[in-house]
Order: sequence, then C-alpha cells, then structure tokens
Amino acid sequence: MKIDIVTIFPEFFRGPLDHGIIRRAREAGLAAIEVHDLRGFAHDRHKTVDDRPFGGGEGMVLKPEPIFECIEALGIVSRDGRGQASQTVVLLSAQGKRFDQSVASELAALERIVLICGRYEGVDERVGQYLADRELSIGDYVLSGGELGAAVIVDCVTRLIPGALGNEASTQQESFTRFSQTQAGDGPSSTCTSGGLLDYPHYTRPADFRGMGVPEVLASGNHEEIRRWRRRTALEKTIRNRPDLLDESALSDQDKELLAQITGKNL
Ligand code: SAH
Repeated sequence: MKIDIVTIFPEFFRGPLDHGIIRRAREAGLAAIEVHDLRGFAHDRHKTVDDRPFGGGEGMVLKPEPIFECIEALGIVSRDGRGQASQTVVLLSAQGKRFDQSVASELAALERIVLICGRYEGVDERVGQYLADRELSIGDYVLSGGELGAAVIVDCVTRLIPGALGNEASTQQESFTRFSQTQAGDGPSSTCTSGGLLDYPHYTRPADFRGMGVPEVLASGNHEEIRRWRRRTALEKTIRNRPDLLDESALSDQDKELLAQITGKNL
C-alpha cells in the first residue's frame, strides 16, 4: 500500500511513523509512506499557502491551488476512476464522517491513500467538494491541525494490512472488530472474536502482583470456560464503558443469556 500525506509541517511525522508495527511494515515493504510539504507547491516568494476568508471572520484558510497542484503531482487517478483504481483522497476535517475501525478496514483494502492535513480555520471548501473523495474526522473535538488525525489513520490502517502483525488472528479479537471468523485451532484465543464489543481483559505474569491476583479460570486450562469468561468480561466492560456498541454488535444466544445475567445482577 502507498500512503501520501500532504502537510505544511512535514517534520511532524518524524517519530509517529518510525516505531513498532508501522516501522516494521514500512521496512517489510507492506506500506510505503511519503510525506509531502505543501509549501513546495506555493509559487510566491513567501511560499504562501493560506489566505483570509471570504465573507470576513477569524483566522486564515488553506488556499486551494497548492493542494490541487500537489495532488495532481502525485499522479492520483481522477475522482471518477478512483474507486476502481483502489485509491482514495481523504481530507482530515472535524466536519468529516467519523473514522472508526470499519472505515480503517475499508481503507486497509485499498492500494493508495492520500491524506490532506488542514490547518488554521480549515481548508478552502472546494478541496472537499471537488478534489477529495471523503472528509474524515477522528473524533468529536477540534484539533489544531490534521497531522495528528493523519497519524492516527496511518497507524490504524497499517496494522490491518495482511502481514503487518505477527499474529493475524489478533486483529479479529480486538475491540470494535465486528466481523467474526471461525478459525482452525483449539486454543481459547482462536475462538474469541470481539464481534464489535470491547476487548476482554488481559493478564500476564506474575500471577500474584503485590497481592493483586489473576482470575483463576485463566490458569485452569479449560478452553471453553476461558472463552466464556472472556466473552462475559468483554460484555461487562462494554456495558460499563460503551453501551452504545451493543446495538451494533453480533450477539449470539449465549451472549444474550450472559447479558441478561449481567444486567440482572447489576441493575
Ligand atoms: N474551523 C474548523 C476547525 C479547523 S481546525 C471547524 O470548526 O470545524 C484545523 C484543521 O485541523 C482542520 O482543517 C482539520 O484538517 C484538522 N482537524 C481538526 N479537528 C479534527 C478532527 N476531529 N479530525 C480530523 N481532523 C481535524
């Protein structure tokens, strides 16, 4: 996969993309990430990329010309053909659709992603209207620039590229991952997909840490009991922290039973 990031602060990306899974994916050739300095596409002496807003008001707005020229220079397919070419141009925007795990999986299946980072009061609307395919927001809050959002998207998407994680099954067990896949193998982890819930709690050694123990069932070796415990605790945590996810989750009859037990007990 090729990812291009368009920004007025290219230095910003030194660091976030140089560690752990993203670094390994880059080194293994699974993700080629390039950062482009928007100022390189401004033609005046001062490398101006922003201007005052029409209609008056606070702050400055990123101008359309350098952004259009930059995207054109990248050799991206024109908007009509992008879907077919497995390419997409994304404008980071607080007004965009919310980026979540399912958008991340959708993007991870593409061959090329371009991320345009806004700054100041935002980006000339014609970029979203005529150049980008979609506007994405990473959450309901206002950042001072699209760079953090772009780093978040690159991180989430890169770890979903097949081969990026050591253990492919781990992306299916994780929080928010809605699709569940039956896999071969008889270990407890291979039977635990989140189905859109939050992940279950994890523990590691020591079994007794300053008097704080680990649930006994996890040392029992009984895979079915471990699976049930994990499902139950994932349901409990989801009810506690993100009850909104339950509506969208894939719940089995057994889940519904567990849910009744939990809420019956807690309510
Ligand atoms: N005036 C805008 C905010 C501009 S913030 C508004 O009220 O909606 C400047 C830039 O930061 C934006 O152009 C966008 O690229 C980025 N940004 C801010 N919040 C964001 C969010 N939640 N998700 C993604 N990008 C965001």
